[in-house]
Amino acid sequence: MKIKRLTANVYEVPLGMVNAFIIEDDGLILVDTGAPGSAGKILAAIGEIGRGPEDIQHILLTHAHPDHAGSVAELKQLTQAKVWMHPAEFPHLQNGFSPKPPQPVFSSFLNKMLYRLFVRNAPGEIPAATADELMEDGDWLPLAGGMHVAHIPGHSPGQVAFFMPGQKNVLFAADAADNMFGLSYSCFYEDLAEAQHSLERLATFDFDVACFGHGRSMLKDAAERFRKRFIPVHPATPAQWPAVETEAMVRMHEPEEKI
Ligand SMILES: [Zn+2]
Ligand SMILES: [Zn+2]
Repeated sequence: MKIKRLTANVYEVPLGMVNAFIIEDDGLILVDTGAPGSAGKILAAIGEIGRGPEDIQHILLTHAHPDHAGSVAELKQLTQAKVWMHPAEFPHLQNGFSPKPPQPVFSSFLNKMLYRLFVRNAPGEIPAATADELMEDGDWLPLAGGMHVAHIPGHSPGQVAFFMPGQKNVLFAADAADNMFGLSYSCFYEDLAEAQHSLERLATFDFDVACFGHGRSMLKDAAERFRKRFIPVHPATPAQWPAVETEAMVRMHEPEEKI
C-alpha cells in the first residue's frame, strides 16, 4: 500500500476500497481514517515519508460512515491528534454506530448493485470515539494555511468537504461524488435533491485537484470537470434559446401596449 504524492503537501493513502489523505503542515493532518483496523496501514504509509505517529496532529472526518471514521478511536490512542467533525454526525461517532439511510437512493443500476454487494449488509458499528472540535459550514480551519469547510449533506447528514487554497487549490470532496469509473455520482445518497445542491455548490469552488473517498484523485482541471458533470445547463439545448428570447420580447412589450 503505497502513499501517493498529489501536490507539494497533499498525499493520498489508498486503503483498499476507500482513501484517506495526508496534508503536510508543521505536523500532519489526516483526512478520514478508513474502516476499522486501518490505523496500522495509515501509520505505515506516513512512515514512507519519514513521519511517525506523533506527527499526526489533526484528524478531519468528512463524515461518520464506518469506512471513513472506522479507525478514529485507534488513531486517537496512538497519536496526540485532535479530531474535527460536523455536529450532525458527532452522536454517531460517540455512540459507535453509523446508521445507513432508511431509503437509500441511487443514480444508476450499477450503483444499486454495488450498494447491495458492499454496503447493505456491512456492519454500521464503529469503535466509539469523541471529537475535540466541531466544525460548521463556512468555517475556516486554522490548518495548512486555512481550510474552508463546506457542509454538503445528501450522502449523509453531516458530511463536509474541505477547500484548501495553495499553490494548487485542492478540494476534498468526500463521498459527494466518486471517481471510480470516471467522475460520477456517489454509490448511494440519503437525499438526492440535497446531494445535487451540494454538488452544484462544490462546483463553484475554484480547485485544480479533487480528492475522493472512493476512486482516483483528479490531478488537473478538476473544478471544470465538476461543472461540466454536475451543473445542469439551462436551457437544456441551444435550440431552446430562440423560444426564450421570443418570450422575453413579449414580456418587454406588454407594459407599453397596456399604457
Ligand atoms: Zn459515505
Ligand atoms: Zn465512503
